[in-house]
Amino acid sequence: MKSIADIRKDFPILHTQVNGKALVYLDNAATSQKPIQVIDALSNYYKTLNSNIHRSAHSLAAQATEAYEATRDIVQTFINAKYREEINFVRGTTEAINLVAYSWGRTNIQEGDEIIISALEHHSNLVPWQILAKEQKAKLLIIPINEKGELDQHMYQKQLSSKTKLVAVNHTSNSLGTINPIKEMIQQAHLFGAKVLIDGAQACPHGPVDVQDLDADFFCFSGHKTYAPTGIGVLYGKRELMEQMPPFHYGGEMIKEVDYDMVTFNDLPYKFEAGTPNIADTIALGTALNYMKEIGYETIKTQENALLQYATEKMSGIDELRIIGNAAQKAPVISFLLGTAHPYDVGVLLDKMGIAIRTGHHCCQPLMKSLGIQGTCRASFAFYNTLEEVDVLVEGLLRTKKML
Ligand code: PMP
Repeated sequence: MKSIADIRKDFPILHTQVNGKALVYLDNAATSQKPIQVIDALSNYYKTLNSNIHRSAHSLAAQATEAYEATRDIVQTFINAKYREEINFVRGTTEAINLVAYSWGRTNIQEGDEIIISALEHHSNLVPWQILAKEQKAKLLIIPINEKGELDQHMYQKQLSSKTKLVAVNHTSNSLGTINPIKEMIQQAHLFGAKVLIDGAQACPHGPVDVQDLDADFFCFSGHKTYAPTGIGVLYGKRELMEQMPPFHYGGEMIKEVDYDMVTFNDLPYKFEAGTPNIADTIALGTALNYMKEIGYETIKTQENALLQYATEKMSGIDELRIIGNAAQKAPVISFLLGTAHPYDVGVLLDKMGIAIRTGHHCCQPLMKSLGIQGTCRASFAFYNTLEEVDVLVEGLLRTKKML
């Protein structure tokens, strides 16, 4: 088992300086850093394998195809999908949700239908449904939160009805860190015949997810938050649903036969992968997920829980610091306000000390509005962070407080 010190050696950026100070990177919920294995996978692809995949006679293309398709198997195992063709490569969570809204949504949501989302959704899991609801004359319902930042399950049960066609909620909130009881929520939605899309962007960085156990109809995540490059993500959809859905993009790769007046579409998953895909980043996504497995999911969980617990305790001890979101089940994400200071000012001052946190509305403007705030400061941890870095953050916050 690798120690955290050894794990950190795999991440070159963690050994750099920002503003003359050792980087303390606490913005992992925005994007995670990349281990050297992933960086090497990218450059090795371009050095030794680069060629266009599928349908080619030459060896290099066959090898690139094999490497690309190997990631599909790795993802299938990571989320425990029943069939490999249920794994579709997309640019990220945003594109995955847009695909479902455009393709499944426009064929299945009719006037008078209801779509349920939650108050904790990222704009990516809000705007596509808002637009769809307006176009189709459907209704968008929002599950409220309680004072801890947990979804109000009682209200959710009252909102569900035979009119509900879709429930679209995140597994884990990017802004407050709340982990939602999605298995139970999916079961309840299914009792009314509704389909469920789970935004797994903030769940997958912390370990594998079992889509069969959850019985999710759609599940998506972004590679760049799971130690892989930007520009690659995954949409899982149950095979029987994806088979019935019309394509999202039209063009090469997604067709079977074309003439000037007709077209037939390719089988899954290619039906949803039009054009030359993001080959290098897909291969590197496989490397990243293998890296997480090698580190060990237990190691990841143990370290991240320790960081969350330690940081919560230490930060709660800072006078006038208010943690926003105290759910019983939380990812290693701490949203907070420091007295009456504007989050941006806190972020800028911490940056001068080499500490990277996120400030703002975290793509959750309606949530911030309902909390009566403009935004928060957010420290988010990954398994390569250390308790010493939490101490640096706490020290930085104490110094910031004196400066503001
Ligand atoms: N949903 C959640 C919960 C997120 O945290 C994010 C990224 N912040 C997204 C969706 C959008 O992901 P991407 O920008 O990678 O498409």
